[in-house]
Amino acid sequence: MESVVRKIENKVMSGQSISFEEAIQLAQVEDVEGLFAAANRIRQKFKGNRVDLCTIMNAKSGRCPENCKFCAQSAHYRTGVQEYPLISVEEALRMAKENEMHGVHRFSLVTSGKALSKKEFDRVIEIYKVLRQKTKLQLCASLGIISHDQAVRLKEAGVTMYHHNLETSRDYFHKICDTHTYQDRIDTVKNAMAAGLDVCCGGIIGMGESMEDRIKMAFEIKELGVRSVPVNILNPIKGTPLENAEKLNPIEILKTMSIFRFIIPDGFIRYAGGRNTLGGLQRLGFNAGINAALVGNYLTTVGNSIPEDIAIIKEEGLEV
Ligand code: SF4
Repeated sequence: MESVVRKIENKVMSGQSISFEEAIQLAQVEDVEGLFAAANRIRQKFKGNRVDLCTIMNAKSGRCPENCKFCAQSAHYRTGVQEYPLISVEEALRMAKENEMHGVHRFSLVTSGKALSKKEFDRVIEIYKVLRQKTKLQLCASLGIISHDQAVRLKEAGVTMYHHNLETSRDYFHKICDTHTYQDRIDTVKNAMAAGLDVCCGGIIGMGESMEDRIKMAFEIKELGVRSVPVNILNPIKGTPLENAEKLNPIEILKTMSIFRFIIPDGFIRYAGGRNTLGGLQRLGFNAGINAALVGNYLTTVGNSIPEDIAIIKEEGLEV
């Protein structure tokens, strides 16, 4: 008899979308090897063997008035995070060139805070104009909540992709943050898209949410039309309300990512922060539906070195 995984895989392979109930069925299967192999075949069919790498630079750190419970940068918690104001044009250019030299093709500035002030936003625009002139990098931005007009200015300055996470499901969001709403996040994604920017939008797993919450988030992202989905694994930060959050089992992490591949077959399912908790199993992810990675030192969590990541990807038979 055809297994549940095979039946749902065939549906995806024939170009149909899976339902929420089918995603839940995938979450319940015990044959995780079969699930990973199917997600791998789906990735091969819809996205081939190329892995997309991007890197980010923390361009402003700390002092955020929001209270996201996972975040080292929130001023609500004493995390000892290094705080600094928006970096200079020269510093951004230096970092961008260093990443370019390592073979990375996407580079993003990330700033802490719900949104930038007008003065800060003007400086960021200036930075992007210089990066566009002096590097060949694809430019991404992650600047918090933005309006449609700000999205248009970013696009005109050379930015091609805007990153803004939903973080978790609509139902679970209030347990993670109550100083802004889920809808604020959705609106930003829509503003960026309406300005012609591609959008990268994912979330964090391991914050006490259920698998059902993760699946709901993936469907929300799919419905927005987003095709780049970074999946962060919570790295509990001392001083935040989630500092004692229970660590997710590595197989559950990879299972989540495989199910995301079934839900968004033609997307980039991206390893983001915290993936070091997977240790040697990081390799398995590239055979379980993952086809993109954030590389370098991400925000406040330290990752592998860029050459290490490139070596792993190539050893797994994929191309950068
Ligand atoms: S995730 Fe963003 S908005 Fe939330 S506390 Fe951290 S920096 Fe502020």
